[in-house]
Amino acid sequence: MRISLGTAIKLGLEGGGLSFSPMTAYLLIGEGCNYGCKYCDVSHGRLARITWPSFRDDLVLDALNGSDFERVCLQVTGTGMEEALEILEMVNLPRSVCARITDLEQVKLSFKRGADTIGLALDGVTPKISDEIGRGGFEETLNLLKEAAKIFPGRIWTHLIIGLGETERDAVELMQELHAAGVGIALFAFTPVEGTEMENVERPSMNAYRRMQIARYLTENDLQKEFSFNSRDELINFKDVEREAFLTSGCESCDRGYYDSNPGDPYNFPDIVNDEDYKKAIGQARTWRGSNVYKAGKLIRIFVEYGDYIKDVRITGDFFVHPEESLEGLESSLIGLPVDKNALEDKIREFMKTAQVFGFDERSLTDAIMGAVV
Ligand code: SF4
Repeated sequence: MRISLGTAIKLGLEGGGLSFSPMTAYLLIGEGCNYGCKYCDVSHGRLARITWPSFRDDLVLDALNGSDFERVCLQVTGTGMEEALEILEMVNLPRSVCARITDLEQVKLSFKRGADTIGLALDGVTPKISDEIGRGGFEETLNLLKEAAKIFPGRIWTHLIIGLGETERDAVELMQELHAAGVGIALFAFTPVEGTEMENVERPSMNAYRRMQIARYLTENDLQKEFSFNSRDELINFKDVEREAFLTSGCESCDRGYYDSNPGDPYNFPDIVNDEDYKKAIGQARTWRGSNVYKAGKLIRIFVEYGDYIKDVRITGDFFVHPEESLEGLESSLIGLPVDKNALEDKIREFMKTAQVFGFDERSLTDAIMGAVV
């Protein structure tokens, strides 16, 4: 059977080192898949960033049953359910089944065979996205999740992929709905896999992902119920969170080591979030990016990165500034200012006294910048 490289290394079936000790072993069950999700290449034995080497079943099962893993997760392809049900009975650790189960009877059967949690992935966070990415069946899966969570409280999880074109509002509202129904949430960052139709789609911004981790944490721990959003439907009000907010979310002990993340800058931290990582993650969550095109005497284009203060700003357009390089000086002088109309206007007014400008004045440039931070 196929197992994740990290699992194989920890079991001693493969050489190599690990940057942390995984708590969950991941098995990939089933050859091929009869679904056509555009972001997935599981039919060729590839899932997210993970390599899945293959070993004899008895070797894997013996090693697993004598290991100190805290959980085994069977990642089941569209054709692997029968095999997964057999394997469930051969493992003596807590077992999760992550499969495209389509009816309650299969849920019940999986629990009967020994699963202690079940993951039914929604992946896309709206019906439209679900259809666009080739997964489909959003409403049916959501209904099944809710129905199953009612019967098996605390044992039903779903996977949500951030970065498939949803807004932050879409994701937060779905997380609230899932939590209210008793469905646990495992967040993933979209990972483009080479050879799939979505191989060239960009990954989600770390800023957006951090906010979704925070929203999930606050929602699942009943710490915040009301959220608000800016004009781009990005989350703008959230309470302070503990560092656990940035750990991999999902069934107990699920760490999915670097499943969707580069170890240097992970979306989900598999084990520890140190002080530096925590500070950085909070800073990422509290950074938004906006842009604006504003017609003054000439056209002004603004790109701005901001939180409580301006973190970066780029001003371009068909206006005229002399000396040309003084524009860079203006951009630098705006960094660190509060996101406040008066503070910006004062600083731009100072600049206007030192340069020749044709095409904007302090008021129009201030309005252009403020238009990018709404
Ligand atoms: S949350 Fe983790 S352990 Fe649970 S089903 Fe998903 S991948 Fe498996």
